[in-house]
Amino acid sequence: MIPFTYARAADAADALRQGAVAGARYLGGGTNLVDLMRETIERPGALVDVTGLSSAIGETDDGGLLIGAAARNTAVAEHRAVRTRYPMLARAIVAGASPQIRNMATVGGNLLQRTRCPYFYDDDGSRCNKRAPGQGCDAIGGFNRTHAILGGSSACVAVHASDMCVALAAIGAVVHLSSADGERRLPLTDLHRLPGDHPEIETVLEPGELITAVELPALPFAARSTYRKVRDRASYAFALVSVAAALELDRGTVQDVRLALGGVATKPWRAWKAEEALKGRPATKDGFRAAAGAELADARPLRDNGFKVELARRTITAVLDELTGGEA
Ligand SMILES: Cc1cc2nc3c(=O)[nH]c(=O)nc-3n(C[C@H](O)[C@H](O)[C@H](O)COP(=O)(O)OP(=O)(O)OC[C@H]3O[C@@H](n4cnc5c(N)ncnc54)[C@H](O)[C@@H]3O)c2cc1C
Ligand code: SF4
Repeated sequence: MIPFTYARAADAADALRQGAVAGARYLGGGTNLVDLMRETIERPGALVDVTGLSSAIGETDDGGLLIGAAARNTAVAEHRAVRTRYPMLARAIVAGASPQIRNMATVGGNLLQRTRCPYFYDDDGSRCNKRAPGQGCDAIGGFNRTHAILGGSSACVAVHASDMCVALAAIGAVVHLSSADGERRLPLTDLHRLPGDHPEIETVLEPGELITAVELPALPFAARSTYRKVRDRASYAFALVSVAAALELDRGTVQDVRLALGGVATKPWRAWKAEEALKGRPATKDGFRAAAGAELADARPLRDNGFKVELARRTITAVLDELTGGEA
């Protein structure tokens, strides 16, 4: 047992004050952090419980939604405006974990959940640069069926585990942050870092910086959006490949599109290249497949995960085809 203190933050200012103490960590639902503490992979000296901070889900002035960081995953997925205006987000959340975990997990915690790389969890026998910087990475030459084909480095190829973040990347969500220096806003796609030489540094957050909310911009065509997750079993499993997509068509031509991938990359992966390849072009299966190929041209498969390239290509194609609803 490694001792730690626990205190509940009354508000954001109180959380920042308590979070400034060396070794302090914010505690959301605890569904990831507490597991990692049990394994002694995370060893915070102080837990600052931030579940009492805003969990409200409300309209923004420009027609979007603002979701408090303490909102539980279930509350977001069940919210009427989320289900009708951003169905890919509701579906992504429901595709993750179990109902019990979603009832506990918060939006802030989901964004910062850590990888599920089995070598990361095995601190008895495995080398892992993310857990022990400079130690080496046993996944690269080891069993790497579930690892990344995009965004990896010679130091780390761990996949980002969140389903919710994939939909948020596609939507173009903005993360609201607070620190002693003030407030700032960051596109979700800029929150997570690629591993590079320092996979232990996973985000661009400063020490003690607090996530206060996630903003969904107005995106009317996201009403025609979905999330598909391909995994080894039907529930309670992380993605091998997942796709969040929204499609706007005009007489069979792609007017606008949003596409992001999960299960294949070291961070929630906005498929910018595929989006560019789709815009203004006919919405055909051949076009969808070519756009998927443009994104996956950068894929660097490992020994066991080459299947993800074709699986991703097929899943992207199928999801976009489904979204045409026969209109193409
Ligand atoms: C068995 C199991 C299966 C799972 N399956 C899936 C799945 O299929 N798909 C999926 O996406 N997820 C899955 N998860 C992960 C789950 O979604 C995450 O554990 C959860 O979202 C984390 O949220 P939390 O509030 O419990 O975070 P916590 O565990 O409380 O915290 C996680 C991290 O976020 C930080 N943090 C929390 N709140 C804030 C804040 N406001 N500001 C700054 N930092 C903060 C904490 O310090 C910590 O570093 C699974 C988890 C388990 C245990
Ligand atoms: S892939 Fe990353 S998390 Fe997994 S063992 Fe290698 S360094 Fe660690």
